[in-house]
Amino acid sequence: MKRLCLVLSRGSIFRVVSWIVLLLWPAISGLAARQERLIDGWRPVHYSVSITLDDQLTTITNARAEITILVIKPGVTVIDLDFGEMTVDSVSINNASAEFEHTAGKLNLKLRQPFNPQSRLNVSVTYHGKPKDGLILTNDKDGNPSAVGDNWPNRLHHWIPCFDHPSAKATITFSVTASDRNLVVANGRLDRVQTTAGASRTWIYSERVPIPPYCMIIAVGQFAKLESAKPAVTPLSYYVPQSDRKFAMQGFAPASPSLKVFTQTVAPYPYEKLALIVGATRYGGMENSGAIVFTSNLFARRNSAQAISSVFNIPRGTVSLISHEIAHQWFGDSVTESTWSDLWLSEGFATYFAGLFLQKSEGEKAFQDYMKNTAETYFRYARNNRTPIFDTETEDLNRLLNGNNYQKGAWVLHMLRSTLGDQAFFRGIRAYYRNHKNATASSEDLRVALERASGVDLRPFFKSWVYGAGHPHYQFSWQWDPAKRVIKLNVNQLQVEPYFPNPLTIAVDTGRGTRQFILKPVSKETVQEFRLSGPPVAVHLDPNNQVLKEVSPGS
Ligand SMILES: [Zn+2]
Repeated sequence: MKRLCLVLSRGSIFRVVSWIVLLLWPAISGLAARQERLIDGWRPVHYSVSITLDDQLTTITNARAEITILVIKPGVTVIDLDFGEMTVDSVSINNASAEFEHTAGKLNLKLRQPFNPQSRLNVSVTYHGKPKDGLILTNDKDGNPSAVGDNWPNRLHHWIPCFDHPSAKATITFSVTASDRNLVVANGRLDRVQTTAGASRTWIYSERVPIPPYCMIIAVGQFAKLESAKPAVTPLSYYVPQSDRKFAMQGFAPASPSLKVFTQTVAPYPYEKLALIVGATRYGGMENSGAIVFTSNLFARRNSAQAISSVFNIPRGTVSLISHEIAHQWFGDSVTESTWSDLWLSEGFATYFAGLFLQKSEGEKAFQDYMKNTAETYFRYARNNRTPIFDTETEDLNRLLNGNNYQKGAWVLHMLRSTLGDQAFFRGIRAYYRNHKNATASSEDLRVALERASGVDLRPFFKSWVYGAGHPHYQFSWQWDPAKRVIKLNVNQLQVEPYFPNPLTIAVDTGRGTRQFILKPVSKETVQEFRLSGPPVAVHLDPNNQVLKEVSPGS
């Protein structure tokens, strides 16, 4: 390597150093904050999307997206829609053709004049082609053509021009034309089915409450459609490949009781109907509003080695998967995370509420086992990942589907429930839901709702568990002083992170009964003494397993 010899003035040295610092800043600070597209100058209010598919469901022969847009800030001159690589045929704004630029995942529409805040624009985009992603055009497990939306986290823009961030919620109407061999299902209520030219039918669905873009889907295919026998909460139907017809009723049996439990625990079901679909998704289940898609091998799990649910006679993992996706209808779909850092408000809630459903349907032991497995999955993740749940840095959104947002998030809720008690916890959850339904929420919104319901200051808890990394690693020991008849309890917190403030229950068995004491850590070392009538026989830290923790014996 050649050495560079530079003669620099003081001013230019300063400039060079400044540039080096600027260029290296993300590496030096380690704080490369993720850039998220948040609502700023405009937002979508409603999408009306018409899609015509070819006979074999291999391409969109023509499509039109009419988008109602609300201008928020003065001086907006460009509507910058997210849009993938399909071919744009024309664009109009308020019925006048408009100039546009379509490059690199963006469709920029130029406004002829800036509109005032609160004005509404009607944007219309016609387009066609084969979407690269988002609408999956593939054969179902029986080899029949199918077209199924699968948009998480931001893949809607591959087939619909949109504002592709979960906070940009909007209502949507789908009008889907396909060969009459197919059934079509989408979000919302089926308004009508029309027979159209050339052995086609057009299906019109409308979702009347705003949903996040990653939940906007259609599913087209030669489905067997079955109706649930007991749709107590909302119309409930199943769309499965023909070969799954005989498994669907039993396989989806947990759906109706899940709907009932969550309705009773939280609030009425938020959408017009619920369709459970078996088809193309890259996930085990995808919680699209009112139209959940499950992986094609869902019912093959019945042959697996997993524990079988004694209530539903299918693998317990399938029971919790179905109730997880149904819980998302309230948490994630109706109350949507305002940023990707708040994703645990979707995944942690769905994971915990699936546990609550097990607790209600299969009993306390099944729930305890579920929470234990959840903790183990988190600990495996935490061995190599020491980041907060509230993750502002991870760029690859798929990597947010992790032990923090799912399992640790569920445990955060479990600990809040244990700390606040069932009454205050569920009162707070219901208030949180009520205040943010059909809208968005942040982690702070949840904290405030639970504080109002309980009167407890939860800032220290959230600081440790949501905004801080890791979990407590307790080193626990005790000594009995027979002269003073006092037990001395000693809890050290060994984790690298600051102390966790969770109160700790200690159960002391004296041979003549059990006494419980509560330790309240205010630093990494907690020492407290309690009087006892007789010597302890056994002493247990957190006997009811209410804290997500590791424990080592004291020295
Ligand atoms: Zn989920």
